[in-house]
Amino acid sequence: MSLLSVRGLTKDFGGNRAVDGVSFDLRPGELLALIGPNGAGKSTTFNMVGGQLPASAGSVKLNGAELLGLPSRRIAQLGVGRTFQIAATFSSLTVRENVQMALLAHHRKVFSFWRSAARQYAAEADALLGQVGMREQAARPCSELAYGDVKRVELAMSLAAAPTLLLMDEPTAGMAPAERNALVGLVKQLVTERNLAVLFTEHSMDVVFAYADRVIVLARGSLIAQGSVDEVRRDAKVQEVYFGT
Ligand code: ADP
Ligand code: MG
Repeated sequence: MSLLSVRGLTKDFGGNRAVDGVSFDLRPGELLALIGPNGAGKSTTFNMVGGQLPASAGSVKLNGAELLGLPSRRIAQLGVGRTFQIAATFSSLTVRENVQMALLAHHRKVFSFWRSAARQYAAEADALLGQVGMREQAARPCSELAYGDVKRVELAMSLAAAPTLLLMDEPTAGMAPAERNALVGLVKQLVTERNLAVLFTEHSMDVVFAYADRVIVLARGSLIAQGSVDEVRRDAKVQEVYFGT
């Protein structure tokens, strides 16, 4: 059973075809890596699936329902969460308050008197922070956190919307290798525990090969390979794109 079904997804920027007839499926509980060189069309693909960018052609179905043409807010309500490359936390608020804000937004509570409104979500916020290993730091302002920990808070904020599918475009950008492994390892754990599906991009092949359930490979807008880590690693076209052999 496919959760997300992408068919013939295409994006033209003027005369430049950035994404060219891409098709793939994503199952519940699957960690799917989208890899490819810079400019391959990875972010453009994320933006079309998340509704931040209109597609030129194709279809993106979530549980059989078409997402293309829907506003990003509606796509989020249907269970598609996303994290962005730029940190989206409020640095003057504490870790817990950031997650409370995300819970308020998800439950569409009014934002005046938000501190009192947020109180009812304190326990839920702490539970989410526990899942990302940030419970102990709940009372600290986000401005004091290390970069990798901000990413964990962002992840908890994404989980506040109870997504069935999470889109993560370069979640480990700017991280040292140990931090990368820790974050993607955590995502892998959440995928298993919550039967969450995740589509992510990642530059480190070591991290991709260690954690991804399946890999799809884009080059110049086209999908050139997909399969298990072992299949993709051995693929001649992938080796040519990555290693020029
Ligand atoms: P990746 O994320 O794989 O590095 P992108 O999806 O960002 O690649 O970009 C794919 C191609 O589309 C690139 O050639 C890029 O220059 C082009 N592109 C991306 N966004 C825009 C835009 N808003 N306008 C015009 N061209 C764009
Ligand atoms: Mg990109």
